[in-house]
Amino acid sequence: MQPEYATIQSRAFGQNAAVCPVCGSTEHTSIRPVFDDRYGCPDMFSLVRCNVCGHLMTSPALAEEELGGLYSTYYPRKHVNTAELVAAASEVAGSWARLRRWWNGTNNQGQYTVSPGWVMLDIGCGSGLSLLEAQALGAQAYGIEADPNVSRIADELKLRVHIGSLHDRPFPDVSFDLIVLNQVIEHIPDPGMALDALKERLKPMGRLVIVFPNRSSLWQRISGPKWINWHVPYHLHHFDAKGFRAFAQRHGYRVIRQKTITPTIWTVLQLRALHQTPVPGVPNAMWEVKPVAEVVPSTKTSLHASSFVRLIRKLVRWAAFSSLSLFNRLIDLLGQGDSILVELQIDRSP
Ligand SMILES: [Zn+2]
Repeated sequence: MQPEYATIQSRAFGQNAAVCPVCGSTEHTSIRPVFDDRYGCPDMFSLVRCNVCGHLMTSPALAEEELGGLYSTYYPRKHVNTAELVAAASEVAGSWARLRRWWNGTNNQGQYTVSPGWVMLDIGCGSGLSLLEAQALGAQAYGIEADPNVSRIADELKLRVHIGSLHDRPFPDVSFDLIVLNQVIEHIPDPGMALDALKERLKPMGRLVIVFPNRSSLWQRISGPKWINWHVPYHLHHFDAKGFRAFAQRHGYRVIRQKTITPTIWTVLQLRALHQTPVPGVPNAMWEVKPVAEVVPSTKTSLHASSFVRLIRKLVRWAAFSSLSLFNRLIDLLGQGDSILVELQIDRSP
């Protein structure tokens, strides 16, 4: 069946000039054709480079009103079990949990920078796990999420989530010590408008923590067009550390901290993706989100494999994962990792 999205696209695609959020230029040069190598959206796009500042974008640019059709047609919805969310959030505090996050590179999320007593807003909060974690770390948590399916989870877990956009100006009486965007800014057609709108939501010394893929990372240079974080057409902007700093300054923020963090699980997926040959319009089995019932491991293999063999397999997997973690922590030390975490404050210098 032809998805409804096809009509949306034939009406509007190709009419939106990509505008560079870093320098405002509309002049750019195409680098190469790109397409959805995960979920099978059939359209072809271009990766383009801004002629003035070098920022990379997906072109043609998607308009805000096209996103609903694109995501509901192609983007798989993750299966959420609220009991599992609560259990995961209960393990967030303590030095052991912090060490584990650092080692696995899963500390690439803004909510882990929260302090007790702070009021936090997570934009694009998804299932709400980040809000539960912030609460477990002693903060008050608010979220904004575009996916209407999240309202059921929010009700069940008694979370303060606004279904919609930050431009709806939800929670009008609340100012925030911390506003978080985890892997969200690269999906927003006009990220500068988002930065501008957030200024009036921060407390005077409030912090904005933005986490996004680093398009100049070592894994990108190794993987080239097969880098998993091009993630076209969902990722509209492909920032690196220098470009993002210029972008933030253009919108009146100063960078108070910037570092790279590489989740080891991303690298596992990257190594698998290097062996794939994606085809436009065909969903890639590697990225399929399986129903919960199918995720439960089959007992068949355990009947065939002895416990000794299973132990060896487990040890090999553990050793491989640990080696990747060690490698990633080293490249993060050099600022070459796969995702960038930036902490911003409003620039009040004269
Ligand atoms: Zn530019």
